[in-house]
Amino acid sequence: MRRCPLCLKLETRLFFQDRKRSFHVCSHCALVFADGASHLPSNAIRQRYGRGGSLENQRQLPQFILPLLQELQAQGHNQLKGLNYGRVLDQSSLAHIQATGHELWQYDPFMAPDGESLQHSYDFICCFRVFEHFGAPHREWQLFTRLLKPGGYLAMSTRMLSDPQRFNKWHHKNNLAHVSFPGKATFEYLASASGFRLIFAENDCILMQKPSGSAIKRDPNTDPAV
Ligand SMILES: [Zn+2]
Repeated sequence: MRRCPLCLKLETRLFFQDRKRSFHVCSHCALVFADGASHLPSNAIRQRYGRGGSLENQRQLPQFILPLLQELQAQGHNQLKGLNYGRVLDQSSLAHIQATGHELWQYDPFMAPDGESLQHSYDFICCFRVFEHFGAPHREWQLFTRLLKPGGYLAMSTRMLSDPQRFNKWHHKNNLAHVSFPGKATFEYLASASGFRLIFAENDCILMQKPSGSAIKRDPNTDPAV
């Protein structure tokens, strides 16, 4: 039995096995994860950066962040401070965002390992096609919840496992750098366990909101008066 790398519970079982790896599923958060012994060393992951798949993700990154900012602006949020985690945005898109009055910090463990960016508080965090690389996703989840301001937004894009019965035919799992495979139920679990509001988890896009200070006070688990 393996400990779930996201919710840290022990109720997991072997889910699938192929010639290279075994995969397990967690009965609490529904995460499917590759056995830790099969994770690639970080230098091998670094070498994979820049290959076709990553370049395609790189091209799509602005198409993820810019509409997100437009949506937040449409809701009356201006001059936002955000963190783009895991994959660095190109300079022209970054300049465009800054010209609209927003501030965007970036963190990438290989291309921009700027520890200072993990010391701020943010109105939003975006994370495009990197969740699948998280070997210990509870760390990133704790990091995101710590760095987000009350009421802040977490926007992620990752391939979601929608049909566990077809996992054996899922091309996405064949990339050895992909080790975490959440489903919609995974984000429902995270929202429920943390008090976040799950705004949507559809079409491989997830938007969640950290509870505001007043919402936290209304939480019956933290307010003995309720
Ligand atoms: Zn779990």
